[in-house]
Amino acid sequence: MISTDAAAAMVELYCQQLKLPGVRSSYQAIARDATDKSQSYVVFLGACLAQEIESRRQRRLANRLAAARFPAPKTLESFDFSAIPQLSKPKVLSLAEGAFIRGRENVICVGNPGTGKTHISIAVGISAIQAGYKVRFISAVTLAQELLQAQQEYRLPRYLKGWQSFDLVILDELGYLGLGPGGPLLFQFCAERYERGSILITTNLEFSRWIEVFGDPALTSALLDRLTHHAQILLFQGESYRFNQSKERLKEAGT
Ligand code: ADP
Ligand code: MG
Repeated sequence: MISTDAAAAMVELYCQQLKLPGVRSSYQAIARDATDKSQSYVVFLGACLAQEIESRRQRRLANRLAAARFPAPKTLESFDFSAIPQLSKPKVLSLAEGAFIRGRENVICVGNPGTGKTHISIAVGISAIQAGYKVRFISAVTLAQELLQAQQEYRLPRYLKGWQSFDLVILDELGYLGLGPGGPLLFQFCAERYERGSILITTNLEFSRWIEVFGDPALTSALLDRLTHHAQILLFQGESYRFNQSKERLKEAGT
């Protein structure tokens, strides 16, 4: 008869070869439990496989969260909707369910600095990942620079292709800095995604001022035309949340 130790060593080996880390890390505990409860072999096997599925789900989630490159973990739970009453909470919650991504629609968050646009965009992005979508967060300026560099190195088509796997691209802080020669490339990026994948943009500029970013009126209106064709617009009207909090703290300190 084969010893328990030898059998365990074989299970370890087989799990490695078959790439079953979930079974490998949990089968002994499940086996003890099955013995304690006098469960059948079939029940035991089912529990091991369920564990493998769960461990793969967790790993996929962790990988996708890392691939999204969010600058900070922000959630809807930690967002104080009462601080910005004009922003519709049901609308944000329905965006977080991800139907707009299925419909390849866009979201544009417009408002003053510090009003929570980036916070909400990350929270929506994390919900989308939990719903099974692939998401990538990047600042508009960084993307424009990367596009320009890819073009200079004659690898723009390949670079653009790399973005096709994402269901949602979050383009943060459009408008804080002009894009210079990257402007037309960012236009090309958005035009290629039109009706193929979703974009969520955060910006401090109302649409009439987007020319300042892209430089070219014809290009800007063509971009706005595509972006807003299937888009939900969220207006972040109010004062900076951080600034208000600092004011509160100063008041409490009696200054
Ligand atoms: P914006 O992108 O509009 O400039 P941010 O989303 O970066 O603003 O918000 C600035 C900071 O204030 C972040 O740390 C964010 O988490 C926080 N913040 C903004 N609005 C809220 C809110 N309503 N509830 C909780 N935190 C908020
Ligand atoms: Mg921001």
